[in-house]
Amino acid sequence: MNNTLIVETKNLTKTFTGKEVIKCCNMSVEKGIIYGFLGANGAGKTTIFKLLSGLLKPTMGKVQVLGMDIVSEHSSILSEIGTLIETPIFYEHLSATENLKIHLAYMGKEDGDIADILSKVGLNDTGVQPVSTFSLGMRQRLAIARAIIHKPKLLVLDEPINGLDPMGIREMRDLFIKLVKTQGMTLLISSHILTEIEHIADTIGVIVNGTIVREVSMAKVKAEYPSGLEDYFMD
Ligand code: ATP
Repeated sequence: MNNTLIVETKNLTKTFTGKEVIKCCNMSVEKGIIYGFLGANGAGKTTIFKLLSGLLKPTMGKVQVLGMDIVSEHSSILSEIGTLIETPIFYEHLSATENLKIHLAYMGKEDGDIADILSKVGLNDTGVQPVSTFSLGMRQRLAIARAIIHKPKLLVLDEPINGLDPMGIREMRDLFIKLVKTQGMTLLISSHILTEIEHIADTIGVIVNGTIVREVSMAKVKAEYPSGLEDYFMD
């Protein structure tokens, strides 16, 4: 495997009760980029993110993360991946800080700067407030904090701006860009919102019916379609 690749898949396939929902996907993601996934409802974005982060096993094919096989070497890679996939589950009766402490212990890390991360996601004033009282947007911010607190090399975020207000969306977008551009993380992100992916991604992958049908750099899109992604898709 090329050393600059953080994620590489070979003929990745997932079948649920006889139905192929991911079909022979070959993709590679280089270190230090933001890879944006676009696809309609049911196209397979969540399933592929689960396969890439080891939450599901492939029916066929392989996933390598940081040069390691996600299935056979999962325990070695676990703490190198930060995920936000589907509705996050928390210890509801505990505070944001306590939830992050438990997560750090699970990841085998004790040195996370919880106060700093809570401030970065805008939850620094929540104190001992139990998560059960958090709004949808606050829960999403906490889920983002949990994905990054253990300083993973790969971030896999499935629609992370769900439930956030416009200000929150901008703040989280700036945070993601900073993590990638100054801290060397690599980010896979999906969104239903075209402009959101357009603002953040270096490369986009388009998934239709479980197959990646297009992959293009945003630099190329911007050079050839000055009005942006919408025009690119009209072509
Ligand atoms: P959305 O944007 O609506 O979240 P998605 O692109 O993330 O959609 P997936 O959730 O990956 O799509 O689903 C892809 C397909 O796989 C869908 O047809 C879905 O019904 C099916 N699917 C996903 N998980 C399972 C499962 N555990 N068992 C059976 N089918 C499943």
